[in-house]
Amino acid sequence: MNTTIHKGTALITGASTGIGAIYADRLARRGYDLILVARNRERLDELANRLTTSTGRSIEVVVADLGAKADVRRVEDILRRDSSITMLVNNAGFGGAGPLLVSDVDKMEAMIELNVTALTRLTYAIAPGFVARGAGTIVNIASVVAVAPELLNGVYGASKAFVLAFSQSLQHELAAQGVRVQAVLPGATRTEFWDIAGRPVENLPESIVMSADDLVDAALAGLDQGEVATIPSLPDAADWNAFEAARAALGPNLSRSQPAARFGVGVA
Ligand code: NAP
Repeated sequence: MNTTIHKGTALITGASTGIGAIYADRLARRGYDLILVARNRERLDELANRLTTSTGRSIEVVVADLGAKADVRRVEDILRRDSSITMLVNNAGFGGAGPLLVSDVDKMEAMIELNVTALTRLTYAIAPGFVARGAGTIVNIASVVAVAPELLNGVYGASKAFVLAFSQSLQHELAAQGVRVQAVLPGATRTEFWDIAGRPVENLPESIVMSADDLVDAALAGLDQGEVATIPSLPDAADWNAFEAARAALGPNLSRSQPAARFGVGVA
């Protein structure tokens, strides 16, 4: 489908395959020009050519390893300089399935570099421009392990809990200045993620695995509906709202001058 509505440019990280490549397809069809970022040039070029032909949008490819400082800085520069950018999709990431005692700590550090540090730096690079222009959208791909860190590798879960908390804080700080923030929390999704994590997706029950197409379509519908956090498989949004309400209910007691009575501190 060709579209003539121009929505500005979306920069998508991890766009060479999986969820990021589907975002590229859907956003081009919605009228965005694209900047596609990942390491695999061949895949990026192939996707860019296909989407240019099918949508007529302008699509730029940036080959970058977001685990490498110099490459992250290069993408930061693009985000600072290109005022046509109206959307950032922080999607690049990888996970693991192994527990702490069998996980290589260097790999855990690399996971934090990509899932947390690069995502943070790219957000810092774009946010001032969005605020100055009074508009912009930041989509951060987290995971359901953000709220269920026992399911897979703990560092992976913790990295995605960071993405969720960071997104909620961003929404809190920037919404009034015209910036939309959404955290997407996919459950198991059929991509190469699972091969890289060391647990082939074929080993999971089919009933818990979503296609990347459905995942992205639901996430974009959630964005359209104004959700700050979207779990594409969650049937009733009231469940998430109840989870958030429980968090908010802790508020008045999160910081007080005295320890709680149940600790017996200061009791003679
Ligand atoms: P995927 O198919 O493995 O795709 C990952 C993408 O990230 C690829 O385009 C890859 O491209 C890119 N990437 C990986 N390392 C990179 C690096 N160092 N620098 C730049 N780009 C890099 O996985 P996916 O399932 O689409 O994952 C996308 C996001 O969804 C991740 O943040 C993941 O944690 C999250 N997620 C996935 C699932 C799931 O079940 N699949 C569930 C919850 C959350 P290159 O190899 O070309 O660099």
